[in-house]
Amino acid sequence: MIPYGRQNITEQDIAAVAQALKGDFLTQGPTILEFEKQFAQYIGCKFAVAVANGTAALHLNALALNVKPGDKVITTPITFAASANCIRYCGGEVVFADIDPKTYLLDINKVEALLKASPKGTYQGIVPVDFAGRAVDLEAFRKLADEYGLWIIQDSCHSPGGYFIDSKGQKQNCGNGNFADLAIFSFHPVKHIATGEGGMITTNDEKLYKKLLELRTHGITRDAAIFQNSPSFAAGQEVPYDSAYPGWYMEMQTLGYNYRFTDFQAALGISQLSRADEGLQRRKQIAKKYNERFSSHSKIEGHSGFVEGHAYHLYVIEVEDRLGLYNALREDQIFAQIHYIPCHLMPYYRQFGWKEGDMPNAENYYKHCISLPMFPTLTEQQQDFVIQKVEAFLNR
Ligand SMILES: *Cc1c(COP(=O)(O)O)cnc(C)c1O
Repeated sequence: MIPYGRQNITEQDIAAVAQALKGDFLTQGPTILEFEKQFAQYIGCKFAVAVANGTAALHLNALALNVKPGDKVITTPITFAASANCIRYCGGEVVFADIDPKTYLLDINKVEALLKASPKGTYQGIVPVDFAGRAVDLEAFRKLADEYGLWIIQDSCHSPGGYFIDSKGQKQNCGNGNFADLAIFSFHPVKHIATGEGGMITTNDEKLYKKLLELRTHGITRDAAIFQNSPSFAAGQEVPYDSAYPGWYMEMQTLGYNYRFTDFQAALGISQLSRADEGLQRRKQIAKKYNERFSSHSKIEGHSGFVEGHAYHLYVIEVEDRLGLYNALREDQIFAQIHYIPCHLMPYYRQFGWKEGDMPNAENYYKHCISLPMFPTLTEQQQDFVIQKVEAFLNR
């Protein structure tokens, strides 16, 4: 059987986890800090915060940016629902804007049209998604966001190692914090780096970083510099007490969550991260081959292409008879997948008035898209088999 994506766990990974399990900490230990440091280095940002999963990362971002009821936030309908849901967790309103049918990414022109159509202050933020691994041009989004006073959360779950070229010709890594206020990654088994469950938030903003650390663990701080209660209260002394806060003392200052990552997952993450470039290179090879075979095929209406900076979480093709192709591949034990059912047409979002016809490009894309197997351990032989079966179906 050939799935559309799968993790790559090596003996080195297993040894790293076993080693961590023998240590003093199962959670909240030094391995998490080390993973955060190495991940930040890999992405090229200042701060990284490891959390329980990508959805928790999104939720914490929305909290850190103070999303509240009445806020309006723009995102793409072609994404995993969590990109939108994080706004709803905080009571905000999700406003979908259509995709660009060529890149499959949130169309900045559609976003600008929305912003222009309302008085400034109507919208609070944008959640662009590096869908399939293709990097959003965040420089352009930042410019637009600044014009309207918006924050940006970049959903980079598909794009660790991806980048776009900015207007000065510089590579800008996905999630590097140069343009977005916050970015997130997921370490779910189908993503580039797998830790079972897991996620990471990246940023260059120290204030947001500190807020995230607090929100990740119940809103509790151990930083004496910002304690609000008096040292005498903290020490349990009735008389004024002007010495330092006692060693046990901590304060819950805001309502946070337990969205912590664990040390043995971090050990797996570090080990996986050491092979991230290798995995990315293999993904690019696979994409190149799909592209060679499919980009000029007369029955293929659209495809992910072979694009610089693309991290190829997915390689998508668009075909007329998508259902037929999906079923035919399954008969040969090839489990291609569909990414995504448009978010705005999920029953949950329909209750807010979203309906067919609202996002024509996304809806048309959904009718034809199929994601072909794409993961580093896909063998050449397996890929050839997939290509052969796709071609056999299309040429039937
Ligand atoms: C996987 C994914 C998420 C959620 O990550 P989890 O770790 O599964 O919670 C969010 N957004 C996108 C685009 C994803 O692919």
